[in-house]
Amino acid sequence: MKTALVCGAGGFIGGHLVRRLKQEGFWVRGIDLKFPEYAETHADDFAIGDLRDGYFCRAVIDRRFDEVYQLAADMGGAGYIFTGENDATIMHNSATINLNVLDTCHKRSVRTLFYSSSACAYPAYNQEDPDNPRCSEDSAYPAAPDSEYGWEKLFSERLFLAYRRNHGMQTHVARYHNIFGPLGTWQGGREKAPAAICRKVAAARSGDAIDIWGDGRQTRSFLYIDECLEGTTRLLRSNFAGPVNIGSEEMVTIDQLVDLVADIAGKRIDKRHITGPTGVRGRNSDNRLIRDRLGWAPSAPLRRGLEHTYAWIDAQVHANDRLAA
Ligand code: NAD
Repeated sequence: MKTALVCGAGGFIGGHLVRRLKQEGFWVRGIDLKFPEYAETHADDFAIGDLRDGYFCRAVIDRRFDEVYQLAADMGGAGYIFTGENDATIMHNSATINLNVLDTCHKRSVRTLFYSSSACAYPAYNQEDPDNPRCSEDSAYPAAPDSEYGWEKLFSERLFLAYRRNHGMQTHVARYHNIFGPLGTWQGGREKAPAAICRKVAAARSGDAIDIWGDGRQTRSFLYIDECLEGTTRLLRSNFAGPVNIGSEEMVTIDQLVDLVADIAGKRIDKRHITGPTGVRGRNSDNRLIRDRLGWAPSAPLRRGLEHTYAWIDAQVHANDRLAA
């Protein structure tokens, strides 16, 4: 039986990835500081612990896993990453995790690893025009990410690729672009735009106005979790190292995203634009490289993923109402 290790298995993408690997017949060990928040883990074995701790890493990376997915990171939505208040913590935590996991895998002769970098690694100067952001993989240099989270991702990409060059490991690096779906953080400040907007629309009555950070004209693309996992496993099982974008090319403004969610909910929703952390003006995935190297790219419409996500968040919001009643 093939074996897989998922670091960050208590998180949003890691939790979904464990379920997928189990469906494929793997024996899976998950590692995280916490169990998944909204559903029981599907992992055969789940170790709770801190990957910043080298002793813990050596204890849980105790065999030659066939596939290792390194997704653990100090993550957050715009409200956590872009204020500047968490910069030192974000950089220290995520870099330490990556250094530990990669070196322990090397010493255990694990060969095949996946690392999740981010579109936040792209330079801010290419993302000032909301209609024409530039996110081809080669545009990451000269580097100028707009957050320390993005700088740490660049460092760790290079770390994974250096172990490939110097130690013959099969490391693969993807740059994820705004992944969303059910079982993701939807409240508390670390949630991303699709989840935050679904929550606000679910809680609103038809005719209400909801708060939107910024002028609503900033652009993004959003990728549904199932296609993220498809790209992730395809990349790890290919001979392509990356870095390569895993994202959607269906770019929308934040206002358009609100309108789509309101339409799915069947509500008339007005927008109140307020000051808040918004990140770069425009960002979209560029899928030429993934299409060329993997013969595949995400293609599902945004609306379909939002329908699944809205249904799940709507149920969470109203379950909370029932508890409060
Ligand atoms: P998430 O926050 O839900 O999952 C990350 C998990 O890592 C969390 O469960 C957290 O507890 C765990 N973790 C943090 N520090 C740890 C430590 N010291 N030891 C053990 N576990 C620790 O985030 P996610 O959305 O599932 O993202 C997974 C990966 O993909 C991250 O590396 C993230 O940077 C990257 N990424 C995600 C997106 C996105 O849109 N979700 C976009 C770009 C990149």
